[in-house]
Amino acid sequence: MPLPIAHGLLGASIVAAVHPDAPFTDGRRFRLPLMVGALLANCPDADFLLVWALHDRSWHRGFTHSLVFALVVSLLLLAYLGRSRTRAALAYGLAFTSHGVLDFITTKVGGGVKLLLPFSSQRLSSQVLESSNANGESESEENESETGNQKGAVPCAVRARVRGGRERAASNNGDE
Ligand SMILES: [Zn+2]
Repeated sequence: MPLPIAHGLLGASIVAAVHPDAPFTDGRRFRLPLMVGALLANCPDADFLLVWALHDRSWHRGFTHSLVFALVVSLLLLAYLGRSRTRAALAYGLAFTSHGVLDFITTKVGGGVKLLLPFSSQRLSSQVLESSNANGESESEENESETGNQKGAVPCAVRARVRGGRERAASNNGDE
């Protein structure tokens, strides 16, 4: 998961590029739209409240990260801001949408994002930053079976070390 600051910077950057008041030359007017963009880009992770309340990690990177939910939020922003502020609503909507896309790019298969809800509940990941363990095996196959449970939250390096320890123990038993 990218840090909230990464989501915030991306959201603010999108607002800076798309917002109708950009380039922001007035220092005071400059802050509020960028802060709103940064805040909206972090909003999908509010699903941690559901994880906390329901004690179920599978809620994380669920519907709040989907493209359809982002579209609904964008339409609500458009309704709130009005047709005269369509471009501002687009900037804020894209800032919100960027969260799911960034998670999609940076998470592994097992921790992927339900980007296509409600059409598909599959967790998707671009696997761009997928790591390999010490044996050169891909972690993705192992992670696919762990979708949505707490085991999927264990960092790969830790799992690789645990598995390496088990293999060493097995080979030691074989030597005796
Ligand atoms: Zn997220």
